[in-house]
Amino acid sequence: MRNSVLRRIAAVAVPLLSCLVLSLTSSCSGASSARTGASAESPSPPRYLFLFIGDGMGAAQVKLAETVLGGENALRMTSFPVSGTASTHAADRLITGSAAAGTALATGHKTTIGTIAKNGDHSADLKTLAELSRDRGMRVGIVSNVSIDHATPACFYAHARSRELYSAIALQMASSGFDYFGGGYARGGLESGRPAGGLVDTMRKSGYTLIQGRSGLENAVPGGKYWAYGAYDGSGALGYRIDGGDRRLRLADFTRHGIRLLDNDRGFFMMVEGGKIDWACHANDAATTAREVEDFDEAVAVALSFYRRHPDETLIVVTADHECGGLAIGNTATGYDSHPELLRHQKLSFEAFARKVRRWAERKNVSFPMALDSARVYFGLGDVSRDSLLQLSAEERKALEKAYRSSMRRGGGGIAYGSGDPLTVALVATLNSKAGVGWATDAHTAVAVPVFAIGSGARAFCGSYDNTDIAKKIIETARLGSGK
Ligand SMILES: [Zn+2]
Repeated sequence: MRNSVLRRIAAVAVPLLSCLVLSLTSSCSGASSARTGASAESPSPPRYLFLFIGDGMGAAQVKLAETVLGGENALRMTSFPVSGTASTHAADRLITGSAAAGTALATGHKTTIGTIAKNGDHSADLKTLAELSRDRGMRVGIVSNVSIDHATPACFYAHARSRELYSAIALQMASSGFDYFGGGYARGGLESGRPAGGLVDTMRKSGYTLIQGRSGLENAVPGGKYWAYGAYDGSGALGYRIDGGDRRLRLADFTRHGIRLLDNDRGFFMMVEGGKIDWACHANDAATTAREVEDFDEAVAVALSFYRRHPDETLIVVTADHECGGLAIGNTATGYDSHPELLRHQKLSFEAFARKVRRWAERKNVSFPMALDSARVYFGLGDVSRDSLLQLSAEERKALEKAYRSSMRRGGGGIAYGSGDPLTVALVATLNSKAGVGWATDAHTAVAVPVFAIGSGARAFCGSYDNTDIAKKIIETARLGSGK
């Protein structure tokens, strides 16, 4: 009797179990990906190495972007045949920052908050993936859409006890010997928002050609050392994708030209950071976040097409330094409903809208009904002809009017991330709430981040591990370590 029961249980459980094991192994087994047609594995060590870092990009940010952009095939990174997750804690804090996390990704070592590629007590420099690649005769490129001396890119070419030492960090670009810096300007090379002489002179003396704008970048020829930057703001960063300027150089352009300028027989290492995903998350602006993930993914797509030409020699790893904002797809206002497609009605970033509000406050020429007109144009709020869910309730109008009065009193408030103007914050929060998006914090969180990999050695990135293991796996897979 007991045996027959056991047999019956086994008859159901064994196929179930083997099915489970099969699905677990095939999900990260190097089986070809339906969307890329790519194998996760190939025999030779890769000589073209890409590390993409979405700053602040947790799994929810990826899912949000996919949903807002129109479904599961919207992003290239999620089409990669291998995926994993990485823990992110710093040596001295559970919730990390970009400097400690960037150091982990760049060197394979934990360090303390705010430290750039040095050990925790700042007594020694830590060798970075980029430096190891350079020492092996590969070319090296560092790309970011925030300032090129911001924490994440800095962790690959500089060593500093504090990420705030922007000038000292920027000068280390010149002594790095790297071949290509692309994206934003250097915050440490700006005085009152304008380039100061010292950094420019040092870069030129060290053999770098400085390039601003599209035609300069397109005309640059391989073999030289370049620092290329686009139209930047007062902090040296490129603009948000949602704010337009389609002719402006974006992360994908700097990646495409970086590949062209770095390509050579000995190979290259390129780090590409999508730095403004984090900034949009600090501001709890979901629409801007989704568009920044899209922008980042477009740069990934550029590397993916290079991979297709060199599938046995290329490794692409895409990950994040940490999550930011505690983003949730779901909130208490909408319960089990969610309408992320409503975020498509937002046409400006929180930053660009706050700049508008500041002008209104200065000129005192915009009434609350006029402000509501702008809310309709730039956030879709109140425009029921587009979607009935965009209707503003009486309470919502009242809350917006209070925020408007506060903005006018304060003169618009700050526009930097996290220090929001009251009306902008209220409008973004109202649209987020209707879309079914929630935020837990305006700071980072300690959740694990996703890792996507494709190409030679990609299989090493299966499973869950620590962020320091990502650098170790790249060093091992590409045989960058000393004595190999
Ligand atoms: Zn951050």
